[in-house]
Amino acid sequence: MLVFVLNAGSSSLKYQLINAETSELKASGLVERIGIDGILKHEVGENKKLTFELQIPTHKEAIELVLRILTNDETKVINSISEIEAIGHRVVHGGEYFKKSTLINKDVMDKIRKLIPLAPLHNPAHVLGIEICNELMPNIPNVATFDTAFHQTMPEENFLYAVPYGDYTEHHLRKYGFHGTSHYYVSNEAIKILNKKTSKIIVCHLGNGSSICAVKDGKSISTTMGLTPLEGLIMGTRSGDIDAGVIPYLMERKGLDSNQIINYLNKKSGILGISGISSDLREVIKASNDGDKRSKIAIEMLCGRIKKYLCSYAGLMQGVDAICFTAGIGENSDLIREKVCEGLGFMGIELDTEKNKIRTHGTREIHNESSKTKIFVIPTNEELVIAKDTYNLVKSK
Ligand code: AMP
Repeated sequence: MLVFVLNAGSSSLKYQLINAETSELKASGLVERIGIDGILKHEVGENKKLTFELQIPTHKEAIELVLRILTNDETKVINSISEIEAIGHRVVHGGEYFKKSTLINKDVMDKIRKLIPLAPLHNPAHVLGIEICNELMPNIPNVATFDTAFHQTMPEENFLYAVPYGDYTEHHLRKYGFHGTSHYYVSNEAIKILNKKTSKIIVCHLGNGSSICAVKDGKSISTTMGLTPLEGLIMGTRSGDIDAGVIPYLMERKGLDSNQIINYLNKKSGILGISGISSDLREVIKASNDGDKRSKIAIEMLCGRIKKYLCSYAGLMQGVDAICFTAGIGENSDLIREKVCEGLGFMGIELDTEKNKIRTHGTREIHNESSKTKIFVIPTNEELVIAKDTYNLVKSK
């Protein structure tokens, strides 16, 4: 079954065309700057990469363009749109409504809309993406896969904030957690390698946005992101954990309103804010190597926060069988992995620094022989999870 996987953002669209039975990736791409000018980067297989720069005023035109490219003579991977049998949508916020992926109907759409206050930047774009697919491919079933769903197994003591309880029941104030599809995929791959009935796994999804998840017996029991993706680790431009008292203090001192302070914490902070160089860790590592002090401290802060959560989750689960590193930084930066694991031998976590430096595609083990805890690098694949969930739901419809 060919599944079109769509991740609609406010001015961008990511897509993949996947054979869900064989896991074969037929084509993938990214449309950016919708409504501004427009760039489409399209990839077929491993080798063929194409870039188109053209006016893309709306999301509808963006999806029409992608469908044309998939069937167009020069870039063709399918003969006709009718070969697409299902569409899987990434949806950031599923609130407490969705504990797993679901076929989309009117009730599901209403709930995704109801959750807009919790994900004002993301859910409106997802609704738009689904509506356009319904219009352009009216008879094809649509499935939603939620970033929050995997974390719905967290126990109350790990998802509540210590504020008056009524604000949870009345205003849905709680930790939801994000990157759930990635944490699910990576922990599941680790479980296959461990081949044990019970397991304690910590997944470090370290990218532009980052989160850590404690996965016990295949279930998320705690994660670092919260009501919104701002909580937890230090990220490219996000502060992560911060004393809530900082907010009124800065609002008063700098005369900021609530939008401005949220923008400050989401867009101007994190690695970018500390280093003053970039949100891209590669540039910050380079600057640090060239002697830039603020870049060096940004890297120390990033690794210190990861280590803090790693140790606290090992404590929460009373042990850890495997630590998994994934996403842009987790998969590619041997420096960050080394700094995070440094000094944790007392907990049975021992990195093999040579294995850690070897770069290959695919899953690899980077612990040394005496390490009680296994350490893996596992490339994430959220789109494959979406395609498989879509296939399973549509097949059993
Ligand atoms: P993602 O959001 O998963 O695409 O990850 C993006 C982040 O990964 C950016 O901060 C990149 O700088 C970072 N990244 C990618 N490759 C490397 C690398 N070799 N070393 C350090 N950071 C990297």
